[in-house]
Amino acid sequence: MKLVHLLPVGKVDGALLRDLGRAIPRSLPVACEIFPAELDPTPSYHAERQQHHSSEILQRMQALVRPQDWRLLAVTDVDLYIPILKYVFGEAQMGGPCAVVSTHRLHQEFYGLDRDDALLGQRLLKESVHELGHTLDLRHCQDYTCVMASSHSVEWIDLRESTLCDSCRSKIKSRPALAGRYR
Ligand SMILES: [Zn+2]
Ligand SMILES: [Zn+2]
Repeated sequence: MKLVHLLPVGKVDGALLRDLGRAIPRSLPVACEIFPAELDPTPSYHAERQQHHSSEILQRMQALVRPQDWRLLAVTDVDLYIPILKYVFGEAQMGGPCAVVSTHRLHQEFYGLDRDDALLGQRLLKESVHELGHTLDLRHCQDYTCVMASSHSVEWIDLRESTLCDSCRSKIKSRPALAGRYR
C-alpha cells in the first residue's frame, strides 16, 4: 500500500488533519499517516505580499523526504502564492513526491460567511486529492466534476467530486506509480 504522509506546516487543526487522513484513502488507493514532525512556514513568508511562497515550502520539504516515503503532503493554514498568481490553493511537484495545500481560502469565514467545518473538510479533501493527482503526473482535466479540474475559486472546488473521472483514472492505472483499486 502506498503511504501518504501528512505534514503540518505551522498551526493546523489536529482533528481536520486526522479526518483528512481518513478521507483520502476513499478517493485514492493509498494509506495516510501524520508525519512525525512539523515544518515552520516562516522562512517562506514574504512581507511585501503578506503571503507564503508555496514553491519555497515544497523546496524545504525535500529535506524531510525519507527513502520509505511515497508522497509527502503538507497542510497549512497560511495563505499561499506563486509569483505569477494572486494566490494558490496548493502546489505540487509534477511526478512527486511533494505537494502542499492551504486551508486559508477554503474557510467560509474567509468570505464573510458562517463557519462550516463539514464544507471545509470536503474542500480540503478535494484540494489534497487534486495535488496528489499532480504528483502522479496528471494535468488539469476538462471535466469540471473531476477532482483534477482546475479551479480558481471555491465555487469551482464545490462543483468537483473528490474522485478522479474515468479518463484520469485510466491514465494513472496504466502507470506503475499507483497500482491499486479505485472506487
Ligand atoms: Zn492543479
Ligand atoms: Zn479527470
